[in-house]
Amino acid sequence: MPVAAAIVRVAVPVPLPGSFDYLWPGPGQPPAPGCRVRVPLGKGERVGLVLEIADETSITAAKLKPVGSALDELPVISSELLATLVWCAEYYHHPIGEVVAQALPPLLRRGRELPSGIVAGWRLSKDGSAQDPAMIARRAPRQAQILEALAGSSGIAEEALRASGIGRDTIVRLAKKGWIEPESIAAPVPSLESIRVGVKPELTPDQVTVLDAIQRGSGKFQPYLLQGVTGSGKTEVYLRLIEHQLERERQCLLLVPEIGLTPQLVARLEDRFGARLAIMHSNRTDSERLHAWHDAFTNEAKVIVGTRSAVFSPLPEAGLIIVDEEHDASYKQHEGFRYSARDLAVYRARQLDVPVLLASATPSLESFHNAAQGRYELLEMPRRIGSAGAPAFRIIDLNRHVAKRGLSAPLIAAIERHLAAGNQILLFLNRRGFAPVLFCSECRTVEECGHCDSRMTVHASSGRLRCHHCGSQAALTWACANCGAERIAVGEGTQRVSDELTALFSTARIARLDRDVATRHGVLTQVLADVETGQTQILIGTQMLTKGHDFPRVTMVGVLDADQGLLGADFRSNERLAQTLLQVAGRAGRRDQPGEVYIQTHYPAHPLLGCLLEHDYSAFAELALAERLASRWPPFSHLVVWRAQASTRAPAHSFLRRLATAAKQIAGPVRILGPAAPPMERRGGKYRAQLLFQCDDRAALHQLVDAMLLETRTWPEARRIRFSVDVDPLEL
Ligand code: ADP
Ligand code: ZN
Repeated sequence: MPVAAAIVRVAVPVPLPGSFDYLWPGPGQPPAPGCRVRVPLGKGERVGLVLEIADETSITAAKLKPVGSALDELPVISSELLATLVWCAEYYHHPIGEVVAQALPPLLRRGRELPSGIVAGWRLSKDGSAQDPAMIARRAPRQAQILEALAGSSGIAEEALRASGIGRDTIVRLAKKGWIEPESIAAPVPSLESIRVGVKPELTPDQVTVLDAIQRGSGKFQPYLLQGVTGSGKTEVYLRLIEHQLERERQCLLLVPEIGLTPQLVARLEDRFGARLAIMHSNRTDSERLHAWHDAFTNEAKVIVGTRSAVFSPLPEAGLIIVDEEHDASYKQHEGFRYSARDLAVYRARQLDVPVLLASATPSLESFHNAAQGRYELLEMPRRIGSAGAPAFRIIDLNRHVAKRGLSAPLIAAIERHLAAGNQILLFLNRRGFAPVLFCSECRTVEECGHCDSRMTVHASSGRLRCHHCGSQAALTWACANCGAERIAVGEGTQRVSDELTALFSTARIARLDRDVATRHGVLTQVLADVETGQTQILIGTQMLTKGHDFPRVTMVGVLDADQGLLGADFRSNERLAQTLLQVAGRAGRRDQPGEVYIQTHYPAHPLLGCLLEHDYSAFAELALAERLASRWPPFSHLVVWRAQASTRAPAHSFLRRLATAAKQIAGPVRILGPAAPPMERRGGKYRAQLLFQCDDRAALHQLVDAMLLETRTWPEARRIRFSVDVDPLEL
């Protein structure tokens, strides 16, 4: 029975699909879409967000509960962002309530009042902008007056409308027609100080070309892919683009992979843009996050820099979106709501009708392909700033030179040379800890994690054994539990290499950069600062080394184990390795002094290394794309992976088997592959299995996922396991 009253459709942050309907009990009008409400759910109460106001519901009158209370008079999420979130929930097949929650800082999610400084206002709706005020003026001059005023703005405070002699009735009448929508308006912002002009370098010809290309554009939606080698001056390009937007009083969103690792970038932004900067990332306190969000929301912050989730930042006056290191895997959320911030940046730019710049020295093959297809405009900066030019690559064949503790004789000799010249050296090994294996040579047992199909890593300095997959720990004992013999640590992690370096180069100042070091507060900043000032001479580190630092005194980079990536099983392993190697290599070379990159490998003839020796990421990308085309992997098809896990193997597989069988009945063009166990079947005590849907046609793929999600709801199997859907997965 339809209920003839205002129905409030609410996104409630619970892991259930769909929205929830409530009755608006009055008094007055129900809150507008984008406002938060407190609503009863089960035995408790939740803070949800109004999606729409309807006049019908499929819920029976007896079951329909009233809204507890309205928290906002004005939307905290704009109609533009709300539409994007609704789209995300559909595209990623994730509950709308959880999607919406991502877009709000934690304090607002919990129901905290909006900081003051916001007033009620109105803006034109789509229908409203289609009206011709001149026609309306004949019948309703007041209404025409409002439409005209709103047409030239992004929203006007109600107070301001009333002050110009417009009655509340007129406003309500227009709202009822659906021509205007409520909008939060920032209370008048004190006028901004002029842009601080620090010392700005004179632009290189490459930088000028790129800036011209973007600024020549219409200012409307257009994706650009900037492929610029490390040190070509991409960051300077961002800064100039942002300045340009500031002159137009527009906001810029700059997404970066990891803020903690790029203190230099933040410092450069602070230096140029001072108080107009808002920094958004999840490591800040709740109140810092609320403030940053609020500054963006009220348009007080013109430059919003943040990690993945900042893609949901409010942008009432957006002018430009930039994604730095667009290839970086951290843009994809790996659990829960599995979105890609890089892809959403492009989607949002389209909704906001602003340009979006994706930039990297090593663009993802997806973006490369988009540029090749003409969907993105390709811009290139192939030259480094300064006279040094690109670093020279040298391969060390580990079949001929044995590496002791990870270091071969030619590598050690090279380190000596660069040390003697007074330069800095970076060594890259993507494995932290002391040694990856603890082995008993008597009974041949290897210490394994009790919860994962993996080995325990030896952390000698803390006297612990740690699993890097589930985090479980145990005390490190050298005596074998099985036979009592003394065990040995096999292989090496960054800790062990660091010890070895100390033994070899006793007078050198050596530092380490990995997750173990970075856990202690302030240590990370100190390590980076010491490298920057030249205090540190040799820095050994993991993946963390590859992210966006500019260390001007490094002349040598050593990659201790390139084979880690060469043998990967995933269809993306080659791409990852090429990106990682070029990113680390990019740290080598001073402005006036060329760098050297040494790569230790057992496969010196591998074609991928050949491409790198030629310094040609584009050549690599073309080759890799040809392979992807031949095997129909993305970007030549689209993927959705279903993952199931349970405490035993059988239920995870039987759920996915049933899913595969049912899906095949209605699959159409979608290929169903699996189920299969992932490379590490047991992790954190759970057995895992996965099923792949692959299709050239996105619409058909998503239809099938929706149909299957609906069907699995009735399956008892689905209750015995945990499962997830990952759209556009990065890893299989
Ligand atoms: P990328 O982001 O491409 O790695 P950066 O923008 O960080 O490169 O530039 C590398 C270095 O060159 C930085 O120290 C930067 O200050 C400097 N730089 C950038 N543009 C110029 C320029 N036009 N003239 C001189 N130095 C520059
Ligand atoms: Zn484990």
